[in-house]
Amino acid sequence: MAVIETRAITKRFGDGPAAVDGIDLASADGEFLVLLGPSGCGKTTLLRMIGGLEPPTSGDVLIGGRVVTGLPPRARKIAMVFQSYALYPHMSVYNNIAFPLKAAKLPKAEQEKKVAWAAGILGIDPYLQRKPRQLSGGQRQRVALARALVRDPNVFLLDEPLSNLDAQRRASARDELQGFQRQIGTTTIYVTHDQVEAMGMGDRIAVINQGTIRQLGTPREIYDEPADTFVATFLGSPPMNLVPRDDLLIGFRPEQFSPAAGASGAFTTFPFHVHREEYLGAERLVYGETGPTKVVARFPITADVPVETGRTYEFAVPDGDLKIFDAASGLRRPGGAPKLVLR
Ligand code: ATP
Repeated sequence: MAVIETRAITKRFGDGPAAVDGIDLASADGEFLVLLGPSGCGKTTLLRMIGGLEPPTSGDVLIGGRVVTGLPPRARKIAMVFQSYALYPHMSVYNNIAFPLKAAKLPKAEQEKKVAWAAGILGIDPYLQRKPRQLSGGQRQRVALARALVRDPNVFLLDEPLSNLDAQRRASARDELQGFQRQIGTTTIYVTHDQVEAMGMGDRIAVINQGTIRQLGTPREIYDEPADTFVATFLGSPPMNLVPRDDLLIGFRPEQFSPAAGASGAFTTFPFHVHREEYLGAERLVYGETGPTKVVARFPITADVPVETGRTYEFAVPDGDLKIFDAASGLRRPGGAPKLVLR
């Protein structure tokens, strides 16, 4: 096991803005750390620099406290699994998993033991004689993980390994992958652009945009206490509502926005002109406007909130749930909502 650290790591491709712009990041030992961000934000480049596949323009990578910046991937004791899995199609599952052990010239009996162990952990023992094309996407992913696992890595680097799976398989693969990581306790860095994956699996999430970390925290911290409007709107579906007031943006989640008549404690009201409703089975989304600003309310389907399209209602948000951002910088302002700005 090992802690992974980057120090002011930067990557420039040509003259454009840096793909990764001076990122300082440190995992905890055994942590499942997710790099989350939109396409092109630099998360794969960051992972590739940690793995030694991409030389940084400047800055350092440390694994287990040791600077590894100049070392090739194999000297870093890391295992990487990418979206494509890159299994050898002509080899059996057994030989795919044993491949790195053969390359390391491990005695045959040792190889067999290790393959059996990894296949057992990942539940792929029944498929060892098959070829990759005879497996489902999820099974292939497990073979790729098993092949990474037999090398006893200090660190796992995973780049969108579930993106080839359909929605249902993805949910169970998420579950398996997290269970597997907990079992082996190997520090893992996991790249994804999918907030559900990030929220569901990460011990902590680093939210990345334009080559920089906007916030690093637990899923709850990132969701409940976003550091800026990028994080506030990147997580959550639908995202946080942001209502302009003077030089501020007042943020609140759709699930915190409900009829004022039912509100208790200190709250702030907003007129809500309803445009449209969506029934999503377990919940209901109500789209509308407060003043000129589009906002959304979310109710569990069990909540009895009768609203009609075309009408305006008085809605409210508990004051403790309001997040105040600076409109110019997008950064969160400390403290709660200043009452006077809301009219
Ligand atoms: P995605 O989710 O789409 O894979 P990402 O967040 O992983 O995106 P990166 O692949 O790290 O993003 O790319 C970050 C930026 O660096 C992008 O603007 C990309 O076009 C650029 N980039 C990445 N690799 C290269 C390269 N080899 N040469 C030039 N530019 C590159």
